[in-house]
Amino acid sequence: MYCFSMKIYGCQMNVYDADRLRTALVSRGWLETPEEEADIVIFVTCSIRDKAEQKVWSEIGRLNSAEGRTPPAIAVAGCMAQRTGTQLMKRYSSVCLVCGPRSLGKLPGELENVMRTGQRVSLLDENPVSLDDLAVAPLLRANPWKAFITIANGCDNFCTYCIVPYVRGRFISREPVVIFREVEELVSSGVREITLIGQNVNTYGRDFDNGYVFSSLLDDVASMDGVERVRFSTSHPKDLTKDVVDVMSRRPSVCPGINLPIQSGSDQILKLMNRGYTVEKFASIVEMIRSALPDGSLTSDLIVGFPGETSADFERSVEAVERFRFDMIHTAAYSPREGTSAAGIEGQISGPEKRRRLGVVNSIQTVISQEINEALVGRTFSVLADGTAPRGDSMLQGRTPSDKVVIFPGDISMLGSFFRVRITGTKKWCLSGEVVKADGKASLGVKCDGLDQV
Ligand code: SF4
Repeated sequence: MYCFSMKIYGCQMNVYDADRLRTALVSRGWLETPEEEADIVIFVTCSIRDKAEQKVWSEIGRLNSAEGRTPPAIAVAGCMAQRTGTQLMKRYSSVCLVCGPRSLGKLPGELENVMRTGQRVSLLDENPVSLDDLAVAPLLRANPWKAFITIANGCDNFCTYCIVPYVRGRFISREPVVIFREVEELVSSGVREITLIGQNVNTYGRDFDNGYVFSSLLDDVASMDGVERVRFSTSHPKDLTKDVVDVMSRRPSVCPGINLPIQSGSDQILKLMNRGYTVEKFASIVEMIRSALPDGSLTSDLIVGFPGETSADFERSVEAVERFRFDMIHTAAYSPREGTSAAGIEGQISGPEKRRRLGVVNSIQTVISQEINEALVGRTFSVLADGTAPRGDSMLQGRTPSDKVVIFPGDISMLGSFFRVRITGTKKWCLSGEVVKADGKASLGVKCDGLDQV
């Protein structure tokens, strides 16, 4: 029996992959332990930003220089392994295995070989089209009541700032039947909320020849026995179509929250980013969503300081933030990624200027988010108590159907159940509330929005 410890970085897809890997290893008799007791430390890595990679380099360095202990064996999987796996193996002899995101299916068996033989193994993806997936549902998760399911791998969009198409390969949809089987297993294991994930969920099915698209999958998953709540992420503005929003407004179990990354408010910068839409096209999608889901929420992603972003371009982004009044925005300063075309564009913006621009949009958005959240005070929502709050004794947290975090008093016996929670106040990035009553029914089909009538 081997003992392993895992370190997970980056997006929801990595959490999903790590949960599946954990499930596969434990089913082979492995034991997850704290790092100090592990025979091997497995990193599931991210390459989206330089910072994410630097963290892994420094953690591997720390493991190698720990005093009084032989360094554990180290395996590195995921995007960073695909990008820098050869360097990692060269620099650290303790890195005994590297594995790209499209070769995860080989990982459990090869980890066992490595531990048994001491041989070093490189499983970097050579063919961006082929996929050797882990055929295991993520049954051993950090959260027993919520689970992610990846519905498609890779991305063909080649946004000029993004490393994903280079490390995760070409877009490929998972077969619906595989997804349904996974949903059934998760529901039987106690999952009450499922999030369908992909780099661009809206192009799901584009590689099938039978007309089965994302709205078909969403509709089918939402109507499966035992599926109480479904979310999805991430949407691409150029591909989000009305049929998806129609399913959201028709199916009670589909939560009315959409993440729609705008990335810039300047058409010129959107073109340089190769995003495939203009601000006005984006506005028409926002209008379509908001008229169909009046109580829904809309979040977005925005990059500041993209190469060539002039003050006027940045002003357009500020205007977009004020115009669209998103519930929340994930903002980021542009981070050049080697190998992407934007890294070579002239007119890179200085670090201090990027930070200044970030500060401007963040402070505008903070006010907007607070105004939107304050309007919810006094309303009641169905909330799945899904964890203890990071701070505060006897406090739990959960999310409203529209994906807002709510902190409310409660004890751990309430975890995993739905409650009707009245919003009593707002904090900077979340809501505070109080339980009105247990909500057996909301999870069984009461429409997610409009839950004021307790
Ligand atoms: S859609 Fe664009 S930003 Fe998103 S993963 Fe694909 S290339 Fe990257």
